[in-house]
Amino acid sequence: MYGAIVVSRDDIEEQNVVKLMERLEAYRKEFKRITGYQWDNNHALYTNYFGKKFAIHIIESSIAVWDDSGKTGLLTVEINGDVVTCEVMDEIEKVTRQWMNGIIHCSACRKEIIYLKHNKNRYFAGVYCNKCWNDKYKAIEAAENYE
Ligand SMILES: [Zn+2]
Repeated sequence: MYGAIVVSRDDIEEQNVVKLMERLEAYRKEFKRITGYQWDNNHALYTNYFGKKFAIHIIESSIAVWDDSGKTGLLTVEINGDVVTCEVMDEIEKVTRQWMNGIIHCSACRKEIIYLKHNKNRYFAGVYCNKCWNDKYKAIEAAENYE
């Protein structure tokens, strides 16, 4: 059995980030109680304007967004202050829409790249442009034993 907390922009924008984290944690505990599902993080799904779902992780200082499988990192955006601003949500919406069109940002330099042409330049959830890959991450990935 699988439970997921699905949040939309309306659930997050202008919310106090600590209170938001507390709410997500309360949901997680309740899901765990009902389902018995071993779920020890507070990952939730974010549904964007187009109803497409993405994995999202909210902490006090930032929000991280992945594709729906959680395998590909799309964005980590800083939260400057107590509240999740409109600008933060605009950035999340922009990046999720770009992903739907096959565009991702290099995990190092943030340049826009075509996902299918770069998805072999991969280190954990990161996907890199050719320059960042060849200059740095290719060697890091080669040395990784994935233990
Ligand atoms: Zn790059």
